[in-house]
Amino acid sequence: MKIILIQGDGIGPEVTMAAVEVVDSTGISIDWIEKPAGLGSLNKYGEVVPEETIQAIRDHGAALKGPFTTPSGGNQKSANFYIRQKLQLFACVRPIYDTKRNIDFVIVRENTEELYAAIEWMSSPQVATAARITTQSGTDRVADFAFKLCQAQGRNKVTIVHKANNLKLTEGMFLNRSRVAGRAYPNIVIEDMLVDTAALNVVQVPTQFDVIVTSNTFGDILSSVGATLMGGLGVAPSASFGDNLIVSEATHGSAPELANSNRANPNAMISSAAMLLDAKGYVSEASWIRKAIIESTEENIVTPDLGGMASTQEVGREIANRVKNMSLQTRK
Ligand code: NAD
Repeated sequence: MKIILIQGDGIGPEVTMAAVEVVDSTGISIDWIEKPAGLGSLNKYGEVVPEETIQAIRDHGAALKGPFTTPSGGNQKSANFYIRQKLQLFACVRPIYDTKRNIDFVIVRENTEELYAAIEWMSSPQVATAARITTQSGTDRVADFAFKLCQAQGRNKVTIVHKANNLKLTEGMFLNRSRVAGRAYPNIVIEDMLVDTAALNVVQVPTQFDVIVTSNTFGDILSSVGATLMGGLGVAPSASFGDNLIVSEATHGSAPELANSNRANPNAMISSAAMLLDAKGYVSEASWIRKAIIESTEENIVTPDLGGMASTQEVGREIANRVKNMSLQTRK
């Protein structure tokens, strides 16, 4: 299997290389094809996302991607949004789980439209304006994806999270079209919830959720809130899906203050790689990785963000060794 590897910025190279070591330890034969993107690529090649990187992902259908640094303010557009829009990676899937507390739900976030499209202009020197575009086709495909995922994972409820009481047109369309999409899945319970209430409930009663489908900005914020239920951004995985395309990346950013310190938690990126293997049909290998993460965490072989003393490399190697052993056991 060929997988495009984008190391990204900040802690990206450290956590992606740990994930590569773990994936290789499964025994799957993988040809990693490294491609540039992010701030590093801008500085080196003058392009934040070179066309060859986009084409390579299109050609091979799968990528493992480190985070990008996108400075606040200034003129630099978000490389993440560019990749998601260019490849039409319309559904961002972010699982939130903590087996000990019976928390197990998935956030499906629309990934190509709305405020993050960053269509902005100065209406006057004193007024900055942004367009918030929601389309029927964009909503239909992400909502259908969420219902399909619900069914495929043996789940039974989709909660449409929105703000249609206030944003009658954009969020109204998201709510109504998501409800329509749900009619094709009569066995799935559909409920809807205002985003402010959902934020409260994700913290207070997270066990009530099964699958959440929501728009781009709300999904981004809610999944960071959800990440805190799992132990923080260092452990929260994510993958973006398009038609026959998957780009796996952690929920976290490039954490520049941790770059090159060997202290970043690689677990989020390693779990994201497991999502990629799942999507490519390597379900057993993905489950070994998840099991190895749980075991090493229980034995406190964790980075400082989880209260441990281990380095990024040590955590990665520990998980890789465990996965290798599981792989050898099954081949006996
Ligand atoms: P961040 O996710 O990089 O960091 C937020 C906090 O979480 C920091 O305290 C950081 O130290 C911690 N953290 C994040 N990942 C960690 C890990 N693996 N191990 C241990 N601690 C970890 O968010 P930020 O600081 O707001 O943004 C930094 C940069 O990342 C910005 O340029 C932003 O645009 C970018 N960003 C990129 C992505 C992406 O590429 N997908 C996502 C979010 C933010």
